[in-house]
Amino acid sequence: MASVPFSSPLAAELSEGVLERFLRYVRVDTQAEEGAPASTFPSTAKQLDLSRILADELRAIGLDDVELNEFGYVIATLPGTPGAPVIGLIAHVDTTPESPGTGVSPIVHEDYAGEPIVLPGDPSQILDPADEPALAARVGHDIVTSDGTTLLGADDKAGVAEIMTAVAYLRGTSESRATVRVGFTVDEEVGRGADHFDVEAFGAEAAYTLDGSGVGEVEIETFSARQLKVRIEGRGEHPGTAKGKLVNAVKLAADLVAGLPRDTLSPETTEGREGFVHPSRIVATVEEAVVTIIVRDHDDEEFERHTELVLQLAREIQEREPRARVSVETWDQYHNMRSVIEQHPRIVANAEEAIRRAGVEPVRSIIRGGTDGARLTAMGLPTPNLFTGGQKYHSRREWASVQDMATAAAMVVELVRVWGE
Ligand SMILES: [Zn+2]
Repeated sequence: MASVPFSSPLAAELSEGVLERFLRYVRVDTQAEEGAPASTFPSTAKQLDLSRILADELRAIGLDDVELNEFGYVIATLPGTPGAPVIGLIAHVDTTPESPGTGVSPIVHEDYAGEPIVLPGDPSQILDPADEPALAARVGHDIVTSDGTTLLGADDKAGVAEIMTAVAYLRGTSESRATVRVGFTVDEEVGRGADHFDVEAFGAEAAYTLDGSGVGEVEIETFSARQLKVRIEGRGEHPGTAKGKLVNAVKLAADLVAGLPRDTLSPETTEGREGFVHPSRIVATVEEAVVTIIVRDHDDEEFERHTELVLQLAREIQEREPRARVSVETWDQYHNMRSVIEQHPRIVANAEEAIRRAGVEPVRSIIRGGTDGARLTAMGLPTPNLFTGGQKYHSRREWASVQDMATAAAMVVELVRVWGE
């Protein structure tokens, strides 16, 4: 048993439920797949294994309009006080393709003493409090990890377990509260979680994704994100007889990448609000090369400048080698939600009040990435992101504190109460 107190009596009361659900959900393989054709949604059918479990559980809790829709989203309503506002609570069932996600075997390290945690399935995977201040600050907590051979899946099954636990709790009370629309999405990790989300039918005035990390965090700023695919068509010839004829797309692609900044504007050299231009993939033959570059920034003007940098490099390649054909395809992935959310101060104020009532201080933080909420905000449903207590996402050293997950579940209950006042 943990030797630190829970952040509130409600957190203590919810802790067992949240841990039991979390340990069950992470064992279900819900890994999404990058690059699946758009007609395949969700990208992997196994995500629905968890969606079905959640739909059944919501029915068992007593929600009577539970729907597992054709896209794999689970949607349900917890009725509130008549006339109260409608708010959404959203989490995603899928896990990232960046780290192994099959056969997750969670381990609870009770009453963590502060030593490095060596994961038994792969002793090269070590959680070291010396490298991780968040872990060093969790002495006395119960820490959940994987066995080291897979990710844990706290991203975002911590959020799912917290929403489920809060809804189950609220269902058994009769105090005044908001009406809650629950939404469990799929394919968030491959940037498509909001693709088929029907904001109008969801019918909420505001929503929250439970998909953040450190305790107390409220996030209203994401990157704006764009992907550019620079396609370079060369000309193939037999190398033995290619003089004056062959145009090598491999070399032109290398020129393009060499033109990108190295000491600045890259993920490995930036932090905080600084953005970047990041070549993430090259597929190339002499005849054709496709360079995938992602552009990220919190600031709109910088974001456009980074995009222009890539377009300019592509033009230069084209000018230098007129026999090649250079084209650029762009895809706007999501947009920083800050400017929209700031127009609705009550949404953040209510979240901060709920966090205080759950026994911790709210912390504003920014996301160097995106969320379903960024997409939903752009679609007309303002959706900031709240903490779940999970850490080190997308890695085999992912971990979560049971006490922090209980605080998050308590925050969700308090949030529904605050909106009902
Ligand atoms: Zn997530």
